[in-house]
Amino acid sequence: MAYDSEWRFSGSRRVPRPERVEICEQCGKRVGMSYPDCPLCFDAIERFWLADWAALLEIEQVDAGMPDETLLAQVVIEESERHPWTVVDMAMSLLRCGTCGNELGSRYNECGECGMAFGSSLVSEYGATMNEHALHIGRWVLRHKQQHGENSIIGWQRTMPRVLTGWLPTTPEAQQMGKRIKDGELDVVDEWLAEVDRQINAKADLN
Ligand SMILES: [Zn+2]
Ligand SMILES: [Zn+2]
Repeated sequence: MAYDSEWRFSGSRRVPRPERVEICEQCGKRVGMSYPDCPLCFDAIERFWLADWAALLEIEQVDAGMPDETLLAQVVIEESERHPWTVVDMAMSLLRCGTCGNELGSRYNECGECGMAFGSSLVSEYGATMNEHALHIGRWVLRHKQQHGENSIIGWQRTMPRVLTGWLPTTPEAQQMGKRIKDGELDVVDEWLAEVDRQINAKADLN
């Protein structure tokens, strides 16, 4: 398969990001917070991956849901360095791990084959922004909660709705947030994030 270099760097860039942090009509939390359990939150995050996968299906003239799609996913894993991280992630979501039998990549902390696949998707981030890296890691943590501690999940559930808009905490902010979560001071964290939302949404109003 021949792809131009632009293809490799296209991860998550086909769909415009939301400008505002909004409340999810389905779960009542900030949009994206309840990924993957709430269908609307799931879609708010997954659509960036699905758009890139759909673009690959179109290039390869493969129909979604057909056996060819699984074959294509296998080819993507074998030549992962030629694809954007979103496409490598989608291929993993379509495949089962030959070692542990779970979704490929989903047991990356405990299964060697899953760990290799996860590593490939990180390598495919080449050229991604820090925010795109956060989007990538956030989806992994929330999608595969059994691989992570509760505090990490609490942190990512709270940052993802803001990361979606292009926001990132500074290093001291992230450290402070981690400490507050560890100390169980979630109300302080949520108060601070509400202020972050006001700033993000005020900026969107100016546009
Ligand atoms: Zn929701
Ligand atoms: Zn595995």
